[in-house]
Amino acid sequence: MSAAETAMLIAGERLEGTEGAVRGIDPRSGETIEPAFGGATEADVDRAARAAADAARTFRATAPEARAVFLETIASEIEALGDALIDRAMTETGLPQARLQGERGRTCGQLRLFARVVRDGGWMDVRIDPAQPDRQPLPRPDMRLAKLAIGPVAVFGASNFPLAFSVAGGDTASAFAAGCPVVAKAHSAHPGTSALMGGAIARAVAACGMPAGTFSLLYGADYRVGEWLVAHPAIKAVGFTGSRGGGTALMQIAASRPEPIPVYAEMSSINPVLLFPGAIAARGAAIAAAYVASLAMGAGQFCTNPGLVVLIEGSGDTAFREAVAGGIAATPAATMLTPGIHGAYLKGVEALRARGVAPLAAGGTSANPHDATAAVFETDADALLADPALRDEIFGPAGLVVRCPDVATAARLLEGLEGQLTIALHMEAADHALAADLMPLIVEKAGRILVNGFGTGVEVAPAMVHGGPYPSTSDGRSTSVGTLAIDRFLRPVCYQDMPEGLLPAALRDDNPCRIPRRIDGTLTLPA
Ligand code: NAP
Repeated sequence: MSAAETAMLIAGERLEGTEGAVRGIDPRSGETIEPAFGGATEADVDRAARAAADAARTFRATAPEARAVFLETIASEIEALGDALIDRAMTETGLPQARLQGERGRTCGQLRLFARVVRDGGWMDVRIDPAQPDRQPLPRPDMRLAKLAIGPVAVFGASNFPLAFSVAGGDTASAFAAGCPVVAKAHSAHPGTSALMGGAIARAVAACGMPAGTFSLLYGADYRVGEWLVAHPAIKAVGFTGSRGGGTALMQIAASRPEPIPVYAEMSSINPVLLFPGAIAARGAAIAAAYVASLAMGAGQFCTNPGLVVLIEGSGDTAFREAVAGGIAATPAATMLTPGIHGAYLKGVEALRARGVAPLAAGGTSANPHDATAAVFETDADALLADPALRDEIFGPAGLVVRCPDVATAARLLEGLEGQLTIALHMEAADHALAADLMPLIVEKAGRILVNGFGTGVEVAPAMVHGGPYPSTSDGRSTSVGTLAIDRFLRPVCYQDMPEGLLPAALRDDNPCRIPRRIDGTLTLPA
């Protein structure tokens, strides 16, 4: 990579970071990857945030069509990076080529999906309540509501999705779609990948004539860059995917600002899988095979990884457990994303052993320094209820199977769980009555409830919810995947008795944006 490519990007300018240096590490070999990326100073953060604030007013007011073209141009620029992007991401993350190619497709697909969302205009949730001058006892004013961009957003890239959840990932795409400038903090595990993605966005900003401060990209040699960014008064919201510790630290900074701001952090989830007796009896071995595949996929480094299986006992349990043991034993060791994540995985597995939890199966080992061996443990409901630490997320290919004698025990167990991204139910028709008893509890615990499947593999689609009650996310009213993600970066504004010429285009009588609007309470589509 050239010197220019390793520099920060602040409002279209390349600047050399001087506050320490960030270097990727090839997790397959443990070797440091050159060159270094200079870390931002507090002054650099200030400059990027101020530039974003300067851009916010113009960018918010861009026509939906112009923003849609901008999103599509970013996607084209990412595609134009070609193999260089995939090669760099492979070196920095150890993820296989096919996975990264698929992730690039997903990244560009979600940018284009948000372009369609922007054009549709439904996201503005326009409501027009015309004046009723003759209403008694008091006249009603003319009121017009539109959801508008909240302002500059700080985006923290995720380690486990170097493309789809990082610099040009879902948080950035939804912030841009809403009309919010982005200051991205690159994840230190993949600075080169971040630089390539940031360059693609910068070229799209220039090509589409967007204000320069619409996008900046910073590197942080330590956590201070993220802290400065979240504390900066120009930043109005935060998008984050990562650890619970990181997410809650940023939430605290955001909440203690003179002007607190929302943090949309996706953090920690063990994604319970409930196995009902009818399903286990009918197809226990097949469920076991699918479970092992989901648990081990991508070295288990998915936020939707099935960390906890609740086995409601009945006939067939033995076949299920034997099939899990066989499947895990045949699972090769796999490289994890970073030395830190690998270390945390080893600690998590060791902690289960130290608490006396029985191993059910272990996968293959490897001499590579950051490879994880898959592991499944088993225990009973009483042990899980007695020890909250057994419900902690272990990020990686480790799972815990909990035997429950009946649905009432499963209910107690669910009651004790924290909020989750997903809960999966495996059931036959004969199990539906049992499941119905649990549904009121399940719906309180998860953002996505799925049947006869596993939460890994998150569709980017209008009906997707990738969110859930705390601590799976910091704000369970939102999703970070799917078109509803745009809502996180919007704020409703009501214009009362505003002259037509001063209204945003979306609220004018002639509906120049040709968007759906709710007029006097009735949804009205453009003619
Ligand atoms: P992370 O350590 O939370 O890092 C995410 C981002 O936040 C990075 O940019 C990091 O900076 C920054 N950061 C972390 N702690 C911070 C703090 N206290 N103050 C300011 N900035 C902070 O997450 P990770 O590296 O992606 O993975 C580590 C763990 O996260 C995993 O073991 C797993 O438990 C969890 N994880 C969960 C999910 C999920 O979706 N639920 C996804 C990925 C990871 P640096 O770049 O300087 O490190």
